[in-house]
Amino acid sequence: MKKIVVTLSLLTALTSISSIAYADLHGRDALWLGGFSENVLEDFDYWESSTIDTYNLDDETANARLVFENQVNNEIGSDFNFWRVNSSGDAELRYYANDYTDDWYGLMTPYKINSSDNYVEAQFGDQWDRAKIQLNYELMDNDGMTAANRDWTVLHETGHVFSLKHNPEADSVMRTVETSFWGNPIFFDYDEFTQLDLDNLDYRY
Ligand SMILES: [Zn+2]
Repeated sequence: MKKIVVTLSLLTALTSISSIAYADLHGRDALWLGGFSENVLEDFDYWESSTIDTYNLDDETANARLVFENQVNNEIGSDFNFWRVNSSGDAELRYYANDYTDDWYGLMTPYKINSSDNYVEAQFGDQWDRAKIQLNYELMDNDGMTAANRDWTVLHETGHVFSLKHNPEADSVMRTVETSFWGNPIFFDYDEFTQLDLDNLDYRY
């Protein structure tokens, strides 16, 4: 009897999810107003903390950059290029991995230069001068993320760097972690952008 009730609840849940208006976000609705200017992204200097290598996340960060240099450039006609620099002070994009005691898997923070020439956290409508991606490797491991799940996480954060907002419930790299009926996190394994994401990047760039 209990099994039947559970099955019915699941069906109801699935039905209600598809009938609730979780519309895909397109164009300006899918993008922050601010962000990097396109010419910065075409010559984008990055630096990786040694912790990216220590925690074996270098394949994932490399994949995300290649997705922009190959898939995105080919599909929308952009000219994004990443260049590795040896000093964090010279980098527009910096990557860190650590055991952050927070409940996120990845985090992107934008910065701008203020009137005193200091880097301060930017708002999402500002022009950005720098960004930081932090990866919470311990939580990724503890919650059982696969390599494909980690690819998705890093590409998702890199999507934020290019001003893409969350696109919940959509077929999008920018969807967020969902929760199963049993309360477990549901991860995705996008290793490149979907057509919806490409259309949204094309709208901006
Ligand atoms: Zn996000």
